Amino acid sequence: MTELQIAESVTPKHIKEIAYKLGIPEEKLEYYGNTKAKLPLEGIDEKKVKQNTLILVTAMTPTPPGEGKTTTSIGLVDALNVLNKKAVVVLREPSLGPVFGIKGGAAGGGWSQVIPMVDINLHFTGDFHAIEKANNLLSALIENNIQSKTRSLGIDPRTVVWKRCMDMNDRGLRNIVAALGGKAGGVPRETGFNITAASEIMAILCLASDLEDLKERCGNIYIGDTWKGTPVYAKDLNAHGAMAVLLKDAIKPNLVQTLEGNPAIIHGGPFANIAQGTNSIVATKMGMSMRDYTVTEAGFGSDLGAEKFLNIKCRAAGISPKTIVLVATIRALKYHGGKSLKDITQEDVIALKKGLPNLERHIESLKSFGIPIVVSINAFKSDTDAEMQLVKEHCKTLGVPVALSYGWEQGGKGCVDLAEKVVQAANTCTQEFKPTYNLEDSIIGKMEKICRTIYGGDSVVLSDVAKAQLRKYEAMGYSDFPVCMAKTEKSFSDDKKHLGRPVGFDVHIREFELATGAGFIIPIAGNVLRMPGLPGIPAAEKITIDKDGTIEGLF
Ligand code: ADP
Ligand code: MG
Repeated sequence: MTELQIAESVTPKHIKEIAYKLGIPEEKLEYYGNTKAKLPLEGIDEKKVKQNTLILVTAMTPTPPGEGKTTTSIGLVDALNVLNKKAVVVLREPSLGPVFGIKGGAAGGGWSQVIPMVDINLHFTGDFHAIEKANNLLSALIENNIQSKTRSLGIDPRTVVWKRCMDMNDRGLRNIVAALGGKAGGVPRETGFNITAASEIMAILCLASDLEDLKERCGNIYIGDTWKGTPVYAKDLNAHGAMAVLLKDAIKPNLVQTLEGNPAIIHGGPFANIAQGTNSIVATKMGMSMRDYTVTEAGFGSDLGAEKFLNIKCRAAGISPKTIVLVATIRALKYHGGKSLKDITQEDVIALKKGLPNLERHIESLKSFGIPIVVSINAFKSDTDAEMQLVKEHCKTLGVPVALSYGWEQGGKGCVDLAEKVVQAANTCTQEFKPTYNLEDSIIGKMEKICRTIYGGDSVVLSDVAKAQLRKYEAMGYSDFPVCMAKTEKSFSDDKKHLGRPVGFDVHIREFELATGAGFIIPIAGNVLRMPGLPGIPAAEKITIDKDGTIEGLF
């Protein structure tokens, strides 16, 4: 059976039944059909948030299709519910870029999925569209002000850093010349698009505490300078009110369910390589307000998602996980040990051994946060006993609990061992996480601490462009911002070819983007792109629908 066939073999419960489990009265739900609903923000209860057991799921450095964090998160929540623990999973909404690019879908896998799978992977409740519109409204207002003779703020078009956004991997929009067509078309200038998942509005939505905070953050967005060199913010264009109106529903978390009928909250979807990589603070706090255990995922490897989840999101929200689950797969370990992607399903204990240092480095980096870790080996059919045994033994020698997880094949009952180990580990957690850096550190200091403590590298090297940008942004008063690193997900270093456990490397920062609404600065390392392109063979080519509306190719 394909992922889609599995997802569609289960009849979803009416969403009011799921809400009932969370103690949300029916009249508080905003229905989007029978299987999706938006949750009112008043459901957040800070007292309950404090008592909740938050569990973060992260991973080793992944192969391109991913190692199963979403699948494991869902399996773990279903397993916790099997053990009669009240648990909810809080996830990101998939972006159309990867759905039609490399991933084909991102709502879990096998018997650990969230449903309605097709809706979640496509337009869902329209949040991404609203984010795009709010972003592009600001772009339109900027163009209009540059054009205006009577109300001009004197914006120097060459300094405008605000980009448009769209939720598609369209490399053709990465760098563009806009405002062509003579006088009526505005003042031509170079600009570009970010993918919606990497847009500042997405970051704002994921960090805002409520609608008022969201509006204020929209107003604080830095867009460029005047001819005199004064910074211009969205509020100078009176943009923030209208932007917040466009986002009034998007800020509310979405409720759906797992295949086993347990609650799942899906909200926000920043990528972890080029953005902060975790769902919204309001969604996580909503889950924490309503259940005893909240499982959430941060994108890509722990060097990206987990680092930013802790140093940016948890710090801003005042929350801290009690256990970190580190997902590893036999296939990724062999890949890091030199096996080519196409041979990854063949048994190869030697390659596997050679790949273990990647997992080891993730364990070491995560230990710096002082939170208990459990390794979860996401079992694939092609894994052999000898391979599984080797990884288990290795984790034992490293002193880290390890579980074999069969969530993909069996759903919740396949993750009971993991759930038990997670509960045990969480019970031993007595402290909040230790951040990698202090906000008072300089921007360079913050990046160097991340580079050394998390990536295992030596130092951070800035290009001339980056140096000039940093001088400017520090002079504007933003040195106390956290940093949201943009770096390849394929390696601890900024070079995607450095697999395994690279050592003796520097991280090269090409440029910075300043996100004053989100409240962080984005150092862009190596040649990572904030508007990705499609892969050689895009998933889109296999996705289709027949006359009865049956969809194929989403997985
Ligand atoms: P991540 O969240 O880490 O990116 P996902 O959970 O989305 O990873 O899984 C990536 C892909 O791998 C999905 O298509 C999923 O169905 C598939 N997958 C995950 N775990 C397994 C498994 N144990 N066996 C087979 N396929 C799996
Ligand atoms: Mg995922």
